[in-house]
Amino acid sequence: MRPFLYDQLGGRVVFGVGTIEQVPAETERLAAGGNILLVADDMAKGEADWIEAACQGRVVARIGEIRPHVPMDDVDRARRIVNENAIDVVVTVGGGSTTGLGKAIVLEHEMPFLAVPTTYAGSEMTPIYGITGEEVKRTGRDPKVKPDTVVYDVELTLALPMSVTAGSVMNALAHCVEALYAEERNPIVDVLALEGVAALARGSRLVAGDPEAVDGRSDLLYGAYLAGSSLGSVGMAVHHRVCHVLGGTYGLAHGDANAVMLPHVVAYNAVAEPDVMDRLASALGAGDPAAALYDLARELGAPASLSGLGVAESDLDAAAAMTVERGGYNPRPVELGWIRNLLGDAYTGGSPVVKRE
Ligand code: NAD
Repeated sequence: MRPFLYDQLGGRVVFGVGTIEQVPAETERLAAGGNILLVADDMAKGEADWIEAACQGRVVARIGEIRPHVPMDDVDRARRIVNENAIDVVVTVGGGSTTGLGKAIVLEHEMPFLAVPTTYAGSEMTPIYGITGEEVKRTGRDPKVKPDTVVYDVELTLALPMSVTAGSVMNALAHCVEALYAEERNPIVDVLALEGVAALARGSRLVAGDPEAVDGRSDLLYGAYLAGSSLGSVGMAVHHRVCHVLGGTYGLAHGDANAVMLPHVVAYNAVAEPDVMDRLASALGAGDPAAALYDLARELGAPASLSGLGVAESDLDAAAAMTVERGGYNPRPVELGWIRNLLGDAYTGGSPVVKRE
């Protein structure tokens, strides 16, 4: 066993089907008798109405109309609501955008935070926050933004459209994959990430056949929890940087960028990490992990190519340069020519090709 450092993050997790019923008691556990701010995506309005009624007058303010990327205006409005209503605890119900707004609130007003995630983004398990002002997203890490309690309710994910499911699952898989070859990799996160990959692959195959399959949705949500835990514990690598360039500069949805890029990045990093690739392949139940991820994305109906997502071929040189400029760790050196090649493969959207020297 080689020496390692593992910064264990605290928190309580409730996982199951119909667990939303435990939100009132779990909130009470965090802030007995306190004033609740309920931040819920409009798509979860029914669940938010139920929580408000079940909390018997303790929900003193609500925020709906959640916009992506946590705009600073929304954060300012939410922080005013906290001040005006003497809020004691924040409860969020929604995807990464909703959890993100909750994080921005507790970043300034430190208080208990309960999150009910409804996608596979995994933000609820991380100390990472992001706030967008003047078109630039500022991100940071602070342990106080990580929710104290996370309630995973599989039922809330049954109606997640397959178009969102596909990208969200590929994003969760990317968290596991990059955790396995992260600079701070360690044996505990390896276990979480490999179990996450296996659960996400199993769930994807079930849900591709029946989007409302409870066992498949359970696997996906469990896998997303493990993927978020992996992301929360170690840094990511070049896949995340290229996806942020594609999202930030070319407007691609985060899940779509993940779905297109992940198989090609894995093919690129394969030669530097043969042992990781072997373990990834067995977790995916396949021989070649890059090809297996590519096939899984097709089964889920995820977009295959950057060209199909509206990226112009003439933008690829600049996208490659911006990715290299971001610096940061990757198990294989991030060379401009190779990254441009990889973006070229992703542009056409064919099967990933392992890149050797
Ligand atoms: P999202 O919250 O914007 O949700 C995507 C869409 O799905 C929205 O239209 C939403 O209304 C809808 N939706 C959500 N749950 C649904 C459900 N159960 N049924 C039907 N529709 C549903 O996006 P996301 O993909 O969950 O999260 C992406 C955001 O999270 C990005 O901004 C990303 O940067 C951030 N993120 C942050 C971290 C972190 O650690 N801070 C980690 C991962 C992602």
